[in-house]
Amino acid sequence: MDAELIPVELAQADTPAAINQVFLDSAGSSLPPRPVVDEVVAHLRREAEVGGYRAFAERLDEFEAGYGLAAELFGCAPDEVAFTDSASRSWLALLDAVPLAAGDRILTTEVEYGGNAIALLNLAKRAGATVELVPSGADGRIDLHALRDTLDERVKLVSLVHVPTNGGLVSPVADAAAVAKDAGALVLLDACQSIGQMPVTFAGTGADMITGTGRKWLRGPRGTGLLAVRRSVLDRLEPRLIDLQGATWTAPDEITVRADARVFELWENSVAERLGLLAALRYALDLGLDRIAATVTARADRLRTGLAALPRVTVHDLGTSPAGIVSFTVDGVAPDAVKAALAERDVTVTVSRVTSTRYDMTRRGLEQVVRASPHYFVADGQVDRTVDAVARL
Ligand SMILES: *Cc1c(COP(=O)(O)O)cnc(C)c1O
Repeated sequence: MDAELIPVELAQADTPAAINQVFLDSAGSSLPPRPVVDEVVAHLRREAEVGGYRAFAERLDEFEAGYGLAAELFGCAPDEVAFTDSASRSWLALLDAVPLAAGDRILTTEVEYGGNAIALLNLAKRAGATVELVPSGADGRIDLHALRDTLDERVKLVSLVHVPTNGGLVSPVADAAAVAKDAGALVLLDACQSIGQMPVTFAGTGADMITGTGRKWLRGPRGTGLLAVRRSVLDRLEPRLIDLQGATWTAPDEITVRADARVFELWENSVAERLGLLAALRYALDLGLDRIAATVTARADRLRTGLAALPRVTVHDLGTSPAGIVSFTVDGVAPDAVKAALAERDVTVTVSRVTSTRYDMTRRGLEQVVRASPHYFVADGQVDRTVDAVARL
């Protein structure tokens, strides 16, 4: 089904800053829409008036309803979701809860994110486990035969990335998750670059655990993250970093640990930012993730096609139907120089470096790429202006 595109005037009306600049960094930290900003600022003001506890009590119902919103996003139950302060915090909390013993194996893929790879290598070393790379084909898709062949009962975790940080590839995670789960492994999905850009559900991805951030495609505040964990795998996990939120101190030498996903939360959190994130969730759900995906893909395709037609530009995105991240290099101009030159024309892009996706960049002989990530609030004319600006470098 083809979703109707989101009218850009509508999107820009809530995002005034998107009108006079070309903002192409929703993969880094997007422009929040007005309802998100209003929510955060209003709550900070209220805290200054009555103190954080009273201000929180006034919003308790909405705060609680937030679990329902996140559940709607992931297509799960409210007790299967939790909020954190970043995607990495979500991912680390879940990874840390996977029981690992000496000799166990963890499988990862070519598009693994740098922060995740660091955590895997660090944890595996402590546990005496190994981290092994499942190869991808030339098109960047996980080699499912290789995955199937290497799985055995010692594989405790398969780490998948839905959309990598450095390009438009959409990994075939559902196929990989099915193969991994057949062999009894847990599947942890980093959906940091797909949440808010396209539908990301348990049913659609097949994952056991999903993590994401607020500040990227969801357009929430910085310092927010979320996670989802299937109830059916919760009792295979052993959360270790638990405080007053995850457990109750029921007797001097006894605690009762929560039996839902909120065991992964800490008691303290930024209420203003959480309310902002909930406003961002409502905003995305109201627009519809299918419509958002169709609009983002249309903008990114336009940019990719325009750039690819320029003689000195190479587009580096993998996959047959790439999503909202456009990665490219310009012959003879360093990515940082491209970013600086575009900034002078009020076009915001970033540079993605080998340290963020070392397996993939090493395999493809890339050090750095320019990353342009247009959200639905970027107009076609702004995409064309960007292509012109690159042509003139
Ligand atoms: C940005 C990113 C992360 C980390 O998100 P934080 O909110 O900074 O913790 C993880 N994975 C991918 C693929 C990313 O692009």
